[in-house]
Amino acid sequence: MNAHATVPFVDLSIQWNQIRADVMPDVERLFEANAFCLGPWATEFEKSIADYLGARHAVAVSSGSAALHLAVIAAGIRRGDKVLVPAHTFIGTVWGLLYEGAIPIFCDVEAATGTIDLADAERRLDDSVKAIIPVHLYGQPADMTATMAFARRHNLTVIEDVAQAIGARHGGRSLGTIGDLGCFSFYPGKNLGGAGEGGLIVTNDDEHAKALRALRDHGQSQRYLHERIGYNYRMDGLQALVLGHKLGHLDAWTDQRRAIAARYKDTLAATPLLLPEIVHGDHVYHLYVVRTERRDALKAYLDGHGIQTGLHYPIPLHRQPCLLEIAAGQSNFPVAEEFASQGLSLPMFAGMRVDQQQRVIDAVLAFFDGE
Ligand SMILES: *Cc1c(COP(=O)(O)O)cnc(C)c1O
Repeated sequence: MNAHATVPFVDLSIQWNQIRADVMPDVERLFEANAFCLGPWATEFEKSIADYLGARHAVAVSSGSAALHLAVIAAGIRRGDKVLVPAHTFIGTVWGLLYEGAIPIFCDVEAATGTIDLADAERRLDDSVKAIIPVHLYGQPADMTATMAFARRHNLTVIEDVAQAIGARHGGRSLGTIGDLGCFSFYPGKNLGGAGEGGLIVTNDDEHAKALRALRDHGQSQRYLHERIGYNYRMDGLQALVLGHKLGHLDAWTDQRRAIAARYKDTLAATPLLLPEIVHGDHVYHLYVVRTERRDALKAYLDGHGIQTGLHYPIPLHRQPCLLEIAAGQSNFPVAEEFASQGLSLPMFAGMRVDQQQRVIDAVLAFFDGE
């Protein structure tokens, strides 16, 4: 072990080494078949991931943001409609709403999980609210039982943002299949990541699926017949190929993430850090986020010891420059502010070595011991 080597935040080369022998000959086949945009690899991937998640339909698209955009359109959300979203998430959660002229209504998040706080959401309800987007942040479920009951009570569509939580379950069901529509991202650093951009929408509704397939492909239901305004949001064949091979490893990789999380939990329990809590189902640890008022000092200390960390996310949505106008008049997100100012993501990736993790643990313990 080299004590001076950097401990990376994420290392994707480990996954690549596990799949390359299967992927490379398949890439040759794809080139020979000219199957670059959707095509047989995408159809196959849609089948296997629908099966993996237990969804009736899976529609492969070009990114998680594209998935969320099309879900908003398929849900019939229009200009001026309001949609409840957590204030603490990645901005990709709300782009689709903004593209359609809908209005995100920011809600505070639960202190234990960082997912949408339904009591706060209820206070912000009015007759213009048409939908809710729970985000399964960091890989941990939002309270989907309560979200579905809340949504049925107020006649809201539920779009799950599962970009960080593929394979996590709530009440025995895969996240993404509980709401009306579930949106996934295959950005390379996500738990299931492509060799570039990718996304997916799952739904059990036949009409939604039909609309989504047309919308992603220039609005055509048959070739050169454009029934509605569409998009070029198709998944690349190459991404489907890579993702198809990776899907077979996902459960093993998730188990590795959970083992790393268990080790962080055991070794850091005695520090002043707030550690992730398991509340609404099982966590797939896309990110391992700890919280402390000394976040900036801890981050600087770890940087100085060659340990990469991340901030997810340092500025909540209601304070983003591009959202200030929409957020004017919306206020009071104390827990979201706390996550933004106190959260620190420690290195977490499938294949992280014990000696790498030990360096992180030793450095965190040394920081709190007063160096
Ligand atoms: C990654 C992510 C998205 C967007 O996905 P892209 O594939 O990057 O467009 C949306 N929401 C959340 C919570 C994400 O983490």
